[in-house]
Amino acid sequence: PVTIGVLAVQGGVREHATALAAAGASTRLVRRPAELDGLDGLVVPGGESTTIDRLCRIFGLHEPIRDRIAEGRPVYGSCAGMIQLADEILDGHREQQTFGGIDMTVRRNAFGRQVDSFEADLEITGLSDPQRPFRAVFIRAPWVERLGEEVEVLASTDGHPVAVRQGGLLATSFHPEVSGDHRVHELFVQLVRAQRR
Ligand code: GLN
Repeated sequence: PVTIGVLAVQGGVREHATALAAAGASTRLVRRPAELDGLDGLVVPGGESTTIDRLCRIFGLHEPIRDRIAEGRPVYGSCAGMIQLADEILDGHREQQTFGGIDMTVRRNAFGRQVDSFEADLEITGLSDPQRPFRAVFIRAPWVERLGEEVEVLASTDGHPVAVRQGGLLATSFHPEVSGDHRVHELFVQLVRAQRR
């Protein structure tokens, strides 16, 4: 089986580990650089991207994660994790840095300006049982304002892309780990398996 790390500095860590295990992966919590070694993939959970960024730089995780992304290691980012995978962000904290990797610009708290949190039934490309909608939970979520040509949109809501993929990098504006539906995590596990082959 593949081993997938969950970045465990802040945010919905446990929920992602549970969902990944349900999707058939072995999991490991990552708090220090050495814990990145030997992983087949990594999940960056939702939470607060400015905090995740700050703690990753303090713990020496920022550069090793950037390097692994550059080497093509699969990474899935949910909500704050999506922000951290974007090459460019809007409304970021003054000093906020991202890992980058996905050629896109996301705006932090974009939906939050209209409504703090909401749920939507999405059709997401690539999920098993595609006719069955995915109940997506958005909490002060980012949206995507610009996409590079290499980026594939897997789902949108109100005209805004909310699930995207570029190679082995997957990002969602929403929190699939709270829905009890593990198909987004299954999709990521498939990406990780395909990349390892
Ligand atoms: N608003 C948060 C941020 O900017 C993201 C919210 C979330 O992950 N649920 O990091």
